[in-house]
Amino acid sequence: MTGTVLVTGGSGYIAGFAIRQLLDAGWQVRTTLRHPAREAVLRPLLGGDGESLRFFTADLTADAGWAEAMAGCTHVAHVASPFSTSAPRHEDDLIVPAREGVLRALRFARQAGVTRFVQTSSVAAIAYGHGKGVHRFTEADWTDLAGADVYAYVKSKTLAERAARDWVAAEGGCLEFVSINPAAVLGPVWNDDFSPSIEVVRQLLAGLLPGCPDLGFGIVDVRDVADLHVRALTAPGIAGERFIASGPFCKLIDVARVLKARMPDAARKVPTRRLPDWLVRVAARFNPMIRQIVGELGNVRDADAGHALAVLGWQTRPVEDSIVDCARSLIERGIVKV
Ligand code: NAP
Repeated sequence: MTGTVLVTGGSGYIAGFAIRQLLDAGWQVRTTLRHPAREAVLRPLLGGDGESLRFFTADLTADAGWAEAMAGCTHVAHVASPFSTSAPRHEDDLIVPAREGVLRALRFARQAGVTRFVQTSSVAAIAYGHGKGVHRFTEADWTDLAGADVYAYVKSKTLAERAARDWVAAEGGCLEFVSINPAAVLGPVWNDDFSPSIEVVRQLLAGLLPGCPDLGFGIVDVRDVADLHVRALTAPGIAGERFIASGPFCKLIDVARVLKARMPDAARKVPTRRLPDWLVRVAARFNPMIRQIVGELGNVRDADAGHALAVLGWQTRPVEDSIVDCARSLIERGIVKV
């Protein structure tokens, strides 16, 4: 089954792979950009022609352009949301566009008669505020915003998914809503403006880290996340559901070891010693980015993707391939010099 789908944020990492897979499957694809001038660079990378892939200008923070982008669409993959490596000056810089943006997209989708709306949420809306230690999460879990480990991005994703679900329950009518909740997304980068999730591999490969802090995350491949979006757009009987998109939980040192083992020459600068926690805490006093994640030291937030596997027949590739393909693409694109 195909139709006409709007993928929001066509400049984004996940959106790019989703657009390419949807075009390959025969969908008519529309996408939004904040800055229309970027179409010239993005179109050749995304594929499709003027008929199968159309660009519209729209920002999450304003109504302009959304009605035009949604007109004639049967489906929406709402992927765009603010995502940054640096801590925002104010948490509302992330929260407001994330929450208002999904509500705006939902409103215009309902007006246009869209039947299925898939929101790219995050494991951030599931796995925070539950205390330190080792946890295994499912779709039944929600981030507790009162938790000490909840930072601005985590809040933005939790509040946006909550707001979307509340709106759909109250005003959605026939519009079906599904969320995809990915862990840290790795895999090949497709343009030079890559996602913050790639920073881990970039910094390891470029030798920017003196060692590996005791941090970890579930890893999932961008190609598999895109595939899960495509499945969630059309699978029958899943309205209201959440689907975790995650592979295994890996520590930073595991990622480093994969790079060293699979591409020893290119990974010359990759550190494979663990940084002691006390040193990371000292660094956090001076570096706001480290401060955001210092509470993560030692935590295991493992998210169970069994629901997507069972209900949507989703499969994931080996995590080692996602790490290596990510590193290779960073080198091939000249983003990291080794
Ligand atoms: P990305 O490459 O940074 O993409 C983010 C997209 O959102 C970009 O297209 C960006 O447009 C757009 N955007 C941001 N603020 C906007 C605004 N005010 N108006 C319109 N568009 C705006 O990151 P990504 O990894 O593909 O992330 C896509 C989605 O997946 C996000 O919802 C993110 O929270 C979610 N997610 C990502 C991961 C991960 O590890 N990558 C994990 C879980 C969930 P510009 O190019 O104009 O900035």
